[in-house]
Amino acid sequence: MLNEAWGSHHRGSGGPPSAVDAALLHYVAAADQPALVVSRPRTGALEVPRVRWASSAAADLFGVDAENLVDLAITRLLRVGSAGPALERLPRERRTRFAVEAVTSGGATRRTEVVAWPVPDRDGARGGEHSWVLTVVLPEDERSQAALRAAEERFATLAQSSPVPTIVSDVGARLSRVNDAFAELVGLPAEDLCGTGWLTHVVDDERPGVVEAVAAVLAGERVVVDTRLRNAAGQVRWVTIRLAPSRTPGYGAGFIGTVEDVTDRLAREHRLAYQAQHDLLTGLPNRLALLERLADLVGDGLTSGPSGPADPAEGVGVLMVDLDDFKTVNDGLGPEAGDAVLVEIARRLARTVRGGDMVARPGGDEFVLVCGDLTDLDAVEATARRVLDAVLAPVEVNGLRLRLVASIGVVLLSGLRCSAEEVVRDAGIAVHEAKAAGGGRWTLLDEDVRTRARRALRLVADLREALARGGVEVHYQPIVRPGRPARLRSLEALCRWTHPELGPVRPDVFIELAERANLVPALDAHVLAVACRDLASWRAAHAAGRLATSPEHVAVNVSAVSLAAEGFAAGVRRTVAAAGLELRDVCLEVTETALASDLRACRQVLEELRADGARVAIDDFGTGYSSLAYLKDLPVDHLKVDRSFVRDLHSAGPGVAGGPARAVAAAVVSLARTLGLGVVAEGVETFEQDEVVTDLGCEAVQGYLYSRPLTPEALVELLRTGGELAPRPALPTPREVPA
Ligand code: C2E
Ligand code: CA
Ligand code: CA
Repeated sequence: MLNEAWGSHHRGSGGPPSAVDAALLHYVAAADQPALVVSRPRTGALEVPRVRWASSAAADLFGVDAENLVDLAITRLLRVGSAGPALERLPRERRTRFAVEAVTSGGATRRTEVVAWPVPDRDGARGGEHSWVLTVVLPEDERSQAALRAAEERFATLAQSSPVPTIVSDVGARLSRVNDAFAELVGLPAEDLCGTGWLTHVVDDERPGVVEAVAAVLAGERVVVDTRLRNAAGQVRWVTIRLAPSRTPGYGAGFIGTVEDVTDRLAREHRLAYQAQHDLLTGLPNRLALLERLADLVGDGLTSGPSGPADPAEGVGVLMVDLDDFKTVNDGLGPEAGDAVLVEIARRLARTVRGGDMVARPGGDEFVLVCGDLTDLDAVEATARRVLDAVLAPVEVNGLRLRLVASIGVVLLSGLRCSAEEVVRDAGIAVHEAKAAGGGRWTLLDEDVRTRARRALRLVADLREALARGGVEVHYQPIVRPGRPARLRSLEALCRWTHPELGPVRPDVFIELAERANLVPALDAHVLAVACRDLASWRAAHAAGRLATSPEHVAVNVSAVSLAAEGFAAGVRRTVAAAGLELRDVCLEVTETALASDLRACRQVLEELRADGARVAIDDFGTGYSSLAYLKDLPVDHLKVDRSFVRDLHSAGPGVAGGPARAVAAAVVSLARTLGLGVVAEGVETFEQDEVVTDLGCEAVQGYLYSRPLTPEALVELLRTGGELAPRPALPTPREVPA
């Protein structure tokens, strides 16, 4: 608009009126009011002033193009009433305001008022003219200006006491007002900040950005700019400045801005961002950061063909480092000692890698290294060795020198088509292999390992399905009262799974799978339910005379996770009752290890069930943390002496009276006796073993010598014929699927 006004003036008169300088025109042009610059020669008193320049609002008012207004005598445009000064005699010494009639080109008149501002005379100004600026005050203007002033006052009051730092410019980049909050933010009195001084408080390299933002707001845009201010004390604050354009009639384009100090928020956000990406104990990048890095490496570039961009994962290896037996440190020395060890290991690992490599701690006692330049196996070996050695050096904790060992699983990323999570999972599989091979070594996840892992995953899925469909069967191994013949006393229920393609899978194999997939509680519950149902039906058949005998009770294996699971006791009660049995019809076989892992909790559950009649046996007795000390306190009815003791019983040389195995077995039996517990010998395969255990006083025997685990059909046959079992030395085990 300013330029337009200048333009019309140029076209009209060929040069600016001598006494009206650029600043004045700026002032007038910025106003939306009709305005005229008029002048007459100084010497020509009583000459009618003529229009030198007209604003476009004036052109609108008079209905004449601005250029055509130029040179017109103002008497042609304005008629002054009797109360006003003669237009030939406009005062030079003061501003005057008077009523006029404005005459439009069509001859119509409009009553209004005019303010005449004398333009100060400049010495040496060209032509020696007197000039005035005449502004026409339209009634609407009056009202809106009053409203505007009131609004401005209200705004000023609000802003002044507002806690939000606020800045106001009436025109251009110069501040006309700032509130106390802004003065406080910058640390200077408000007076020092008015004018353009505030810009010097913008940090040097940010200033061009702020100047640009100010230019944009003056052009009528709303702008938000993030920048930094340096306060009087030299401190840098991060701020967000929001600028809104504001036009002050009679002045021009300015703005109103609020300034938000975001320093603390940013600091908090930075801290949170840091925490989200780092492990707080060691300061290493955490799982999230690791996954992001891996996603960058395996994410893109994989789908492109040979002509596409280079594989970003070329030569990059991922090493998952897992401390062997770290739990022992944590449990034995306490979590603080464990933490100290982890911090030390983190420090060492960070030193073994090169700049640009990553050491992350995704969790627990697990570290992951992402290393470049692992282009061949020698390089992998060298890096893995360095890591193993770094871990191996003694660590001092609480004055103790500990020697730690790690297992490492390595995955090479080059050409790998999988997600970041899958890389971590694969590295975990490789670690598992390294541990299974004895620990303290590294394993590369090659095709073999991958195939095995995939098979395990598939088996887990198949097992889950079999469990859901009732595809897991239960076989029963007789537990006999020794003698010739021996007589069936009770049964141990043992799960059996025949894979549709792979054939029978050994229980210890699929139970380990089930443990990893958290399927054990479901498995145990299934076996208990089937065993109860079967026992109930044999009882009924026996009562009806269709079976010659039926077992006293049935024993089921209860693993530690089942026992610790919420609602275990209630589940057992429900299952037993559903089959129409009582708790004393079942025996729960629990291993020493299961008892030791969470003694108090297990005890409570077992005590409760036992109080209502359930029997409890300690399975595999002698293989756990021999718990003779607390045996007497356990809610237990009998012990099952582990197969490994029984196996060695036959090795007694001539004259050695049975050898050390016999001595151990004898001690166990006599201890059990002292405690009033029964003893079952497991895994009896030979006559010799049978003789020894019965001599020692075991009242029950379980083993291939009497019977292998039987299918329910074979067992029914045994019950039908009276439950007598003739000892027969064991034949080799039928072929079963290895791991
Ligand atoms: P366990 O509880 O010690 O079960 C006895 C194991 O010894 C059975 O192996 C049985 O077949 C075997 N056995 C019995 N007599 C002899 C013998 O004279 N010689 C030899 N060499 N072995 C004999 P199985 O059925 O393979 O079960 C292995 C383990 O799997 C069981 O050991 C038990 O710990 C676990 N298991 C079996 N069924 C279940 C179940 O339903 N739940 C849970 N949690 N574990 C189960
Ligand atoms: Ca058992
Ligand atoms: Ca056992």
